Amino acid sequence: MEKQTKAIRIQTDKSGNREHSVPLYLTSSFTFESAEQGKALFEETEEGNIYSRFSNPNVTEFVEKVCMLENAEDGIATGTGMAAVFASMAALLKSGDHLVACRALFGSAHQIITQILSKWGITHTYVDATATEAEWEAAIQPNNGRQVARMVYLETPSNPGLELVDLEMLARLKAKYGFILNVDNCFATPILQTPLDLGADLSIHSATKYMDGQGRVLGGIVVGRADLIQPIRFFARHTGPSLSPFNAWVLSKSLETLDLRMERHCRNALQLAEALDGHADVERVLYPFLPSHPQFELAKKQMSAGGAIVTIELEGGFERVKAFFDALTIPTLSSNLGDSRTIVTNPNTTTHAKLKPEEKAALGITPGLIRISVGLEAISDLIADFTQAVEKSAEVIKVNVD
Ligand SMILES: *Cc1c(COP(=O)(O)O)cnc(C)c1O
Repeated sequence: MEKQTKAIRIQTDKSGNREHSVPLYLTSSFTFESAEQGKALFEETEEGNIYSRFSNPNVTEFVEKVCMLENAEDGIATGTGMAAVFASMAALLKSGDHLVACRALFGSAHQIITQILSKWGITHTYVDATATEAEWEAAIQPNNGRQVARMVYLETPSNPGLELVDLEMLARLKAKYGFILNVDNCFATPILQTPLDLGADLSIHSATKYMDGQGRVLGGIVVGRADLIQPIRFFARHTGPSLSPFNAWVLSKSLETLDLRMERHCRNALQLAEALDGHADVERVLYPFLPSHPQFELAKKQMSAGGAIVTIELEGGFERVKAFFDALTIPTLSSNLGDSRTIVTNPNTTTHAKLKPEEKAALGITPGLIRISVGLEAISDLIADFTQAVEKSAEVIKVNVD
């Protein structure tokens, strides 16, 4: 059966009420029919819900659907994407371990690695997404008296530079060195890329983004190898980053339209990227499925479409960005992404503002960089609006210079 059919048809709840849409189990706890049953549930000789911090029917359904979409053995849902990232690291790494990570990371992942894990003696090395196999290997292998990396953590495509990491290449290194390959698959979604099929051990999502897709709820999930999910489940059960039943119910319903939405998101993004790529007033357009993208071949190999983020560079610094944002009439200004509404962000002054100049330089964060999270609006409207704003803002800058 195709993924899309499964995402729509799978309902794991068996309430016995013959409901067409799965009901919402807004309950913190579950009752025991007898002292014996309570004992059996805690001993795990009987399967069932005890307390919604451990499990809940809505959360279970969401997890099972994502496992099915990612071809994963098991998974655990969390209240936010960051809780999933943190749980995967905190549960699987210990003092003295080394983490190798891709340099282009979501800001909070960078903070976890540099400010929190470091307190517990977990060290790290950053590698550029586009580094060669030899460069990745140099960071992974034992060196300077430390052991081989215990985990490699990365995002592909990255935010906002849309750099790709070759997952098959890392799977080759994993076969040699035996680390845990942990991939934040948020930008690609399980519809465009399934890292577990390419050799990853864990795949993580901020469900807040495309899985919800309509800016309503926060959520996160990590899926993958059952023997790795088990310690993450233990960690989550006792530290409590659980996903709320309501959010799980919303997310589970949203998965029914994920495939459909991603198809439109990607088509819109490609068409907008093509339109802006040919425009004289746009300095540069980055989109994985544009032939001008430096990793176009890799994108085609590991993704089924280019995703919904287009990053552009405009000349004229922050003045140009201000004029451009003022001239746009359709998009929302927000730091969020992955929404049915098109959103524009200037990473240099918002999401990546706190980085040091050399960190910005390494990630290609320039003053005129703009991240476009392309929504589901009619593409003709988006192209017309972006084109007029590009031209109008170019005029404003020219007038100011004159
Ligand atoms: C948003 C995001 C996160 C964090 O998810 P939250 O749900 O906001 O906690 C992690 N990784 C990527 C790539 C993201 O875009």
